[in-house]
Amino acid sequence: MKKEQTIASVGEFELIKNYFTPLSSREVAGVIVGIGDDAAQLAIPEGQELVVSTDTLVEGIHFSKGADPYLLGRKSLRVNLSDLAAMGALPCWYFLSLTTPPTTRLDWIKEFSRGLKDDGEDFGIGLVGGDTTGSKKALVVTITVIGSVEKGCSTLRSGARVGDKIFLSGTLGDSALGLAYHLENLKIANLDDRVYLLKRHQLPEPRVVLALALVEGGVTSAAIDVSDGLTADLAHICAASNVGAEVDVEKIPLSAAAKRVLKRHGPDMLAKVLTGGEDYELLFTVAPAMVADVAAIAEKVGVVVTEIGEITAGSSVNINQQGRPLNLDCTGWTHF
Ligand code: ADP
Ligand code: MG
Repeated sequence: MKKEQTIASVGEFELIKNYFTPLSSREVAGVIVGIGDDAAQLAIPEGQELVVSTDTLVEGIHFSKGADPYLLGRKSLRVNLSDLAAMGALPCWYFLSLTTPPTTRLDWIKEFSRGLKDDGEDFGIGLVGGDTTGSKKALVVTITVIGSVEKGCSTLRSGARVGDKIFLSGTLGDSALGLAYHLENLKIANLDDRVYLLKRHQLPEPRVVLALALVEGGVTSAAIDVSDGLTADLAHICAASNVGAEVDVEKIPLSAAAKRVLKRHGPDMLAKVLTGGEDYELLFTVAPAMVADVAAIAEKVGVVVTEIGEITAGSSVNINQQGRPLNLDCTGWTHF
């Protein structure tokens, strides 16, 4: 049998040349110097500010050892794009730091870089540099994204005001249920539901287009992407804005698959939906006078958005069921 090639057999420079340099798409604007020199040199468009974010995915923590490298490439870019969306920024460039054991198969790199390429092209973002280092064991992927936003127009966590309506894009909890199915053997009877929920976990949809349209419409007072769970991320907006919030659990948008799982498994799974995280949906607040505009914008970009509650005075953040706050002990994912 032919021995499979590992990255150790080709070395760092070949790896960069063959798999990462081709991801620096020529179409991406503003690249004065891309991959190949000591640093990238980038031109900032007139009247714009840079928005920069980084996210790390660690094998064994954020993805399992056998995870599909193509989907992992796409997801690692997407979770970063979601942070740009939360700020209302246009994706421009990204950096990739790959830390990997020498035994990693070349096929793995090939598929991983193909995932980055496909999503990089779809989202109009080009690779402009990075770092490639060895590790003893774990595989670690760090991506840094750079976006641009018109001066003073980013959507911060701190802009929510009392009386603002709270909106959520897409549906909540699919990713957490997909993960529970994958890790905990949550029983999902329907095959289509299993496939759908797992896909929502493996391949989140960063709400870049919606976010840009909302910024252009000037309707958002505050925004965050739901990465740690609705309860935790809403609490982040409230803390930054010095306000509270009331959300009706009955209004939270759920996919048909999630509804079927909840019907069968009840309250435990509801907690997962509300606190589970990795939805990468956009959670944002809007002044009452602007609410009608949100519907028009959402319709135009073809993303469903749902009003789920209201910003209140004070500091308590409640998810209410039939008017009574749920007691959710989990406040979201934390590392330590
Ligand atoms: P240095 O030793 O000066 O840090 P490197 O050999 O790490 O230089 O990098 C050489 C070039 O290759 C740089 O332009 C760097 O940004 C790029 N590069 C290195 N690793 C990656 C990677 N994983 N993805 C994209 N570009 C990379
Ligand atoms: Mg380096």
